[in-house]
Parts: sequence; C-alpha cells; structure tokens
Amino acid sequence: MAGKRIIMMGPPGGGKGTQAKRIQDRYKVVQLSTGDMLRAAIATGSPVGKQAKSVMDAGKLVSDDVLIAMIDERIDQPDCANGFILDGFPRTIPQAEGLERLMAKKGLKLDAAIEVRVPDEKLLERLTGRFTCAKCGEGYHDKFKLPKKAEVCDVCGGTQFSRRSDDNADTVKTRLKAYHEQTAPLLPFYERKGVLKVVDGDREMSLVFADLERILGL
Ligand code: AMP
Repeated sequence: MAGKRIIMMGPPGGGKGTQAKRIQDRYKVVQLSTGDMLRAAIATGSPVGKQAKSVMDAGKLVSDDVLIAMIDERIDQPDCANGFILDGFPRTIPQAEGLERLMAKKGLKLDAAIEVRVPDEKLLERLTGRFTCAKCGEGYHDKFKLPKKAEVCDVCGGTQFSRRSDDNADTVKTRLKAYHEQTAPLLPFYERKGVLKVVDGDREMSLVFADLERILGL
C-alpha cells in the first residue's frame, strides 16, 4: 500500500468519507477530505472559511482556484509522503485538470480513481440521518447505526454529537444536483485514463471495504 495515491468519488452520502477513513486507519495513507478542510477553515474564521461558508450552506461548490491551491499545499506536507486518499476532490473537470498538472509538477502518479456508486433515492435518507461524535468524529445514523448505549459514543465514550448544517433536505437536493452536473463528468474522464474502478456502495460498510481492498490490491 505504500505510495498509493487514490481519488474517492461518489455522491454525497455515498460513503466515500467513511471508506477513505477506514483505508487511512488500516494502511496509514492519509485521508484528505476537502469538506473537512473547508469546515476547519470556517471554524478558525480564516479568509477561505469566510468565503466558503455561504456557498457550502447553500449546497453549492466552492471555487476551483481555492480548492486547487488548498490541495497543492496540502500534499506537500510530510504526512502525504506515504500516499494519500483524496476524499471530495476533485469535484469538477477544472479541478481534475488542476490536480493532473500539480501531480505532474511534483512527479506523482495517480493509482486509482474509485467511484462508490449508490442510487440517488438512498442518499437523502442516509444524509439527513447522520451525526458524528463531537470528540472523536465517529459516524452514526438515526436509522442504520445508533450508539450501542443511547447518547454515548461507542469508540471514545463522548456524549456530545453534532450534525452538519448542510445535511438538511433542501441543501441535500442542491448537493445532489451539483454532483450530477459537475462531478459525474469526472467518471468518463478517469475511465479514459484507465484508472477508474467502480464499487457498489449500496451495501453494508464492511462489504464495501472488502471490495476496495481487493480492487486496490491492499
Ligand atoms: P463534503 O464534506 O465532501 O460533503 O463537502 C461539503 C461541502 O464542501 C460541499 O457541498 C462543497 O460546498 C464544499 N466542497 C468540498 N470539497 C469541494 C471541492 N472539491 N470543490 C468545491 N467545493 C467543495
């Protein structure tokens, strides 16, 4: 697994973040979630955060330039030397072209672009029910994965949970539209490059993970 550089794609709520985290934890390649980076920028009140907040709350995409600059800088950090999984980036053709340029500049090769495929009708329910432990970030769901003991995190014992402000029904619809219009065209883009792999994400998490391990030759 050393040196792998992977893109995880798929609709919002398709489970790409969950699977990317699993790969990170097991194989020590770093997960780079642009959504998490932007939420961190909002939390610290940085200029990028200020610019991104209203766009994210509306379920739209933050500008390509901001995202490309963010990733350019991030993959130079020492923790990326052993490989990385891009989670939520690229999301547009210009971002994919930007990524190609900056990886070429750094002498890096893309190993795989994975599509975690889930039908639209499953996504609304998945997104509007999800919440995370505020202390360790473990993910839960109102219907599919409640903590074993009510309101106590299974992993760290934390008792505070949070929900993303963009996981409401209206914003989810805009996010899905952005996915179909702006991100789905990346699938043929990576297919033409011979790196696209498709995983059926409409199954239990551990089955999806097993497929990923097989596909990536982990
Ligand atoms: P996520 O956590 O991946 O669902 O991303 C949450 C929100 O952050 C998205 O709805 C976008 O507003 C913004 N965002 C994250 N990644 C990108 C990206 N690569 N390009 C543009 N906007 C992004």
